[in-house]
This record gives sequence, structure tokens and C-alpha cells, in this order.
Amino acid sequence: MSVGRRARVAALALAVVGIALAGIAWTFLATYAAAPVDPAWAVPAAQGEIPPGSVTVRHTGTATLVFSDGETTWMTDGWFSRPGPLALTFSRIAPDTAAIERGLERNGVDRLAAVFPVHSHYDHAMDAPEVARRTGAQLLGSESTANIGRGWGLPEARIRVVGNREPIALGRFTLTPIESRHFQFPDLAIRERALGDPEIRAPLVPPVSAFDYKVGKAYVLHVAHPRGTFLVVGSAGYVEGGLEGFSADVVFLGTGGLGSQTPAYRESYWRETIGRAHPTRVIPIHWDSLTGPIEGPFTGPVRAAAFLAKGTDQTLAFLKEKQAAHPELIFQTLPRYDEVVLF
Ligand SMILES: [Zn+2]
Repeated sequence: MSVGRRARVAALALAVVGIALAGIAWTFLATYAAAPVDPAWAVPAAQGEIPPGSVTVRHTGTATLVFSDGETTWMTDGWFSRPGPLALTFSRIAPDTAAIERGLERNGVDRLAAVFPVHSHYDHAMDAPEVARRTGAQLLGSESTANIGRGWGLPEARIRVVGNREPIALGRFTLTPIESRHFQFPDLAIRERALGDPEIRAPLVPPVSAFDYKVGKAYVLHVAHPRGTFLVVGSAGYVEGGLEGFSADVVFLGTGGLGSQTPAYRESYWRETIGRAHPTRVIPIHWDSLTGPIEGPFTGPVRAAAFLAKGTDQTLAFLKEKQAAHPELIFQTLPRYDEVVLF
């Protein structure tokens, strides 16, 4: 075979292998599965005038929540880009500025006091610097989150690295970030890449691999307001006794990855979150697709989660069991974007 012909055959073989790999990735990640929440938990959007002084919440999906009391508005994560399974697997990712603009608009947000990614993985922190840039918000979080902000060119004056358990005042809201843990990925290789070396030590300039968004610190946010208190648990991890003394009326409970843990882990997670905070309401979050669209209902390809979870999602069964055991506890899921009165 001539050298030229050999090169052509090699190129063709590479292309075939590439297409086959992309096909396998697509099959794995881009198929639909039922959402792990009960449709009966859905609460409608606020109807008519919202009473002045109310604390409201809006949910975009994953752990992106906007809180407002009419005077001060702030948000967790601010994640609107949804890189697809192929980009996540084979290429590098960057904030989608059109998606961010649309996401802020759909949430009715133009000014924010702060945006606080609950940890620094791409599905929490990737878009936060652009959200801060557009809204005048302070970017709050760990040193890793700060480096995501620096890599995006956000001025240092707009970045604040928070201290563990040091309260932050935002108008009448008082946020206390509590260092906690991320859930453990059951797949060892993924666990090592996602959690093994946790810090982003230098400004992170996208586009980069999804795994370059290292976890940083995983926070639980305790939020106190004269109207009520709540916890945002952004990842289904816990530290034994970490939430001792942090009671809350409402817990936003991260359930992503929970269904892949052992029954004993799920029990411990419940005890260390709901069992510590003693809320009257629990609002599961981070149960929707990472790659689905951010318009319309919370459906989309969720097989990626099932793949990470090794196909054994016990989330809904676990939550239903807890609901049956705690009839006094109200389970709710939020509509997308629409304002709901929290207190
Ligand atoms: Zn994460």
C-alpha cells in the first residue's frame, strides 16, 4: 500500500471510530428517563399580587434558585448553559452567554446583590461570573469559585471568598455558608476526576474540560430572614454533625446522585440534613437533567445521571418512603422560573 493510501485508510478508520464513540456516548447520555419526584408535589406559581415583604423563590433547574424579598435579590449558582452530552464527553465547554441572558430574563432578574455557587463544578459555578458581570452581583464562594471569576475577567472587587460559618449580610437576608461534602460518585474513575484534586488553584479560562471545574468547597447555605429560615443543600453530601444547631423552616434538598448511594448513606444524609434542621417543608432540587433544555417542563435526557449512578436510581422510592414516615412534612417541587412565595 502506498504511503498516501495508508494515510487515507488511517484517517477513515479514525473517523469511523470517532463516529462510533460519539454514537455510544449519545446512546448512554441522551436518552430520557422519568424524573425522580412525585408530580403531586408540584406547587403552582404565585397568582396575582405578591404581598409586599414576602420572601419568594424561583427555580431554573439543578440548584439554581433566585431569592427575593422585594428589596434584595440574590441567587445560588446562576447556571443556565447546558452543554450537551457530546460536548461534555469530547470537547471543551464555556459559558453560553445567550443562554445566560435568556435565563436571567426568564427569572425577571436584572440586578442581583450576590450569586453564590454552592460548589465549583461546571453545573453550579460555570456561569456565575457572567451572571455577576451582567447584574452587578458579588460573586461569593470558595477560592476555586473565585478563580472561575478571575478567569472570566471579573474584577477582584466583585469577588468575595467566604469563610466557613461566617455570616454574610445581604439586605435582610443573612447567609451562613457551612462547609460540607459533595456526594461520592460510585464510579471510581469519575470520582477521582471530579473530586480527587478538589481545588482550582489558578484563574480558569474557558473553554476547558468539564472536569477542570473542580469541586472546590461544597457548601450548605443556611439563610435567615425575618420572615423565615431555610437551608440550601446543593449536593447530596454531609458531614456528621455539620448542621448541628442550624434549624430551618424549609430545606432545599439536593438529590442528585442520592439514588446511587447505599441505603445506609441515604439514611445518614436524611438524618444529617432534615434530621438536623427539622423543617416543616422539604423541596427537592438538583433532580433534573444536566443536559436538558431550560425551557418547558423539567424533562430531558437524564440518562447521564443514571450512568453516573450506575443505573440504580432509588431517589424517588427513598423520598416517598420518607414522606410516608413523616406525614407532617410537606414535600414540594417548584415550577420553572415562576415566582413562588416561600414565606
Ligand atoms: Zn457537583
